[in-house]
Amino acid sequence: MIEFRNIWKTYTDGTEAVKNFSLTIRKGEIVTLIGPSGCGKTTSLKMINRLIEPTAGSIYIDNQDIKTFNIDELRWNIGYVLQEIALFPHLTIAENISVVPEMMKWKRKKVKKRCEDLLDMVGLEPSTYMDRMPHELSGGQQQRVGVVRALAADPDIILMDEPFSALDPISREQLQEDIRRLQKEIEKTIVFVTHDMDEALAIGDQVCLMKEGEIVQYDQPQQLIVSP
Ligand code: ADP
Ligand code: ADP
Repeated sequence: MIEFRNIWKTYTDGTEAVKNFSLTIRKGEIVTLIGPSGCGKTTSLKMINRLIEPTAGSIYIDNQDIKTFNIDELRWNIGYVLQEIALFPHLTIAENISVVPEMMKWKRKKVKKRCEDLLDMVGLEPSTYMDRMPHELSGGQQQRVGVVRALAADPDIILMDEPFSALDPISREQLQEDIRRLQKEIEKTIVFVTHDMDEALAIGDQVCLMKEGEIVQYDQPQQLIVSP
């Protein structure tokens, strides 16, 4: 469970990015943060893995204030998928996926098995793709690798920041399906940022609609009323 309690973020230039944001995300749930550019979605997301510190308020994971966690352990336990395809260009696909498991000193055999299982999960034949370089894959395939790389060390929480916005509509739709399916299989808690309402409604168990740093509405997709 992730809990934001009365979170405020004011940047040093005075921008009030997030204002009194309180939200509880249950274990195994996908929550989408949706709203226009600049409404505070990314700021809220990055506070979960402490890439940004709140100005006031606290965030709890399983009832423990995240400030009390060791920061490396916190980040190992939180997968992070970014908008820009951010694979390491000089590492093979398998090496890209193995980065965090290796930092955690997993046994070589276990790491290899994990890579194979993850590639299988997103429809990339392991024997074909493990040893390829990122530039030898299409954009959609690279983004798939980006998604499973975030899952590699089996984190409880996955943060996704507009992960599909650089993709064509078909790849996008396939990846949305992948995410839904993965989430059912592995029961991860996912926080997903998007400015695309269709995507927010398609992916979220719960949708958090934001405006100017505040929550406008928080509900299941079918309950969400979008004002024109
Ligand atoms: P702070 O004000 O919290 O010290 P900085 O001004 O040093 O943060 O900016 C940190 C990062 O955020 C930089 O990469 C910067 O380009 C980016 N940034 C700065 N201002 C904005 C803004 N208004 N919107 C989005 N990103 C910004
Ligand atoms: P969103 O993800 O919804 O587009 P952000 O969380 O990136 O919104 O930004 C919220 C507000 O904070 C915006 O007004 C943005 O310009 C501002 N902002 C983001 N990062 C910084 C920064 N480092 N310094 C100053 N202002 C920032």
